[in-house]
Amino acid sequence: MVLYKIKARDLDKIPFALGYADVRLISSKQAQILPNEIDLTTNLTKNITMKIPFISAAMDTVTESEMAIKMALMGGIGVIHKNLSPEKQAEEIAKVKRFRSGVITNPITVSPEFPIEEVIRIKKTLGFKSIPVTEDGKPTGKLIGAISDNDYSEKKHANLKVRDRMSPLEKLLVASHMISLEEAEDLLLENKMRKLLLVDENGYLRGMVTKTDIEKGEEYPNATLDKFERLRVGAAIGGPGQDLEVRVPKIVEAGVDVIFIDTSQGFSAGVERTIDYIKRNYDFVDIVAGNIDNSEAVKFLIEKEVHAIKVGIGPGTICTTTDVTGAGVPQLTAVYDCVRIGEKFEMPVIADGGIVSPGQLVFPLAVGASSIMSGKLFAGTDECPGAIKEIVDRKGVGHSVKEYRGMGSLEAMLKGSKSRYFQEGMKLEDLVVQGKEVVVPYIGPVAKQIRKLVNDLKFSLAIHCGVRALRDLRNGDAEFAILPRPAYSKEDLFLFERKE
Ligand code: IMP
Repeated sequence: MVLYKIKARDLDKIPFALGYADVRLISSKQAQILPNEIDLTTNLTKNITMKIPFISAAMDTVTESEMAIKMALMGGIGVIHKNLSPEKQAEEIAKVKRFRSGVITNPITVSPEFPIEEVIRIKKTLGFKSIPVTEDGKPTGKLIGAISDNDYSEKKHANLKVRDRMSPLEKLLVASHMISLEEAEDLLLENKMRKLLLVDENGYLRGMVTKTDIEKGEEYPNATLDKFERLRVGAAIGGPGQDLEVRVPKIVEAGVDVIFIDTSQGFSAGVERTIDYIKRNYDFVDIVAGNIDNSEAVKFLIEKEVHAIKVGIGPGTICTTTDVTGAGVPQLTAVYDCVRIGEKFEMPVIADGGIVSPGQLVFPLAVGASSIMSGKLFAGTDECPGAIKEIVDRKGVGHSVKEYRGMGSLEAMLKGSKSRYFQEGMKLEDLVVQGKEVVVPYIGPVAKQIRKLVNDLKFSLAIHCGVRALRDLRNGDAEFAILPRPAYSKEDLFLFERKE
């Protein structure tokens, strides 16, 4: 039998379209380099680079501030989903921009009127022994003191209020929020204290540094940072969404680095209007537009001068767009086709959706994608919104799981994502559902998962593709074996599907 093989750059020489399940890598000569030395630096957009090519999807079971913070710390980026009010989405962006490694920017706080009984409960349930007190009780309120378990007796003072026992401002260690972590550490040592409160010039609480956090201080040399060394973050907006002119000003003011115009069909007049609006009003913010799956659509977005394009109609693991509408070029060919047009204009291509295992990450990158967006690979981690649940399968075996759902699923659309699917204003009974609601295994911290994906990808590049850097892989020298039939179907992917 002759092996049906083809170089990644020659994919257009075969007369049919391919998905990720249709190919495997053919190993070439090993690079004389250790996998951990492989350079994965890439472009997210024309203006923004990242040290690893991963983006967490703008989905309401995947990316809010917690996920976006970890993604950026590890060298990728997260895109805050848009099933949030414009104010809430802006607040999630602000949390990422305010984040500083080692600084708690959103501490639990209480007001002076808070009962000590409740302070005791917080200590017992969350373990916080010392809590800042602000005038209005909010984490961004004016700092007036702190209450710790040295200030009260559980037996004697449970019926009192915080104001009766708290330590006043004069007794606390307080500094400007502009100081560096090193200076904060020195201050804590000099004053033999365990906690330093950070305030702005008007005395409003901006964060807290604890000795414990500094001691366990993790380092993130690959973090994706803006010019002020703040973490970068993306945010999704719908296509021709009704709230465009309310949402965009708010997320820009909150400091978003890149706006993802996130629709199920980016080759559309609605997307065009949205791009025009952002360019007219906020030409300093990068725009990623999508999703698309063919070269004509790329030409359209190149003319609109966006900063990156996002490719993927139908490949998502929770996506039923192809079943419902018939649309969707198989993803490997879609990415290839879009890269071929885009590369002449140095247009970064994001391959969005459809990666079901770490081993597939190399495929879209080999045909020239700059980065990969995924929901599936990051779903089920601690940083995803939603609680861990315990379920029992048909065989009576217990599993810890988290929910993962398409933004075109009924539940998600009712929460606000109708505009992604051009269905704003539609009645419930007329909605065209294009996504599944499933549960996925709980897999712990996302940092661990990212580390695994990075290691697997580096191994693939060094040992099987024989390249030293992602930019070399993108030249198209990798070789694919083409399989006679797909190795799996989407039906095999999830153990537990909540609803059709
Ligand atoms: P996955 O990582 O393969 O599960 O795909 C995630 C991607 O699927 C997202 O980044 C979106 O582009 C896309 N997507 C999210 N929700 C839906 C949906 O309900 N229908 C179709 N595609 C979706």
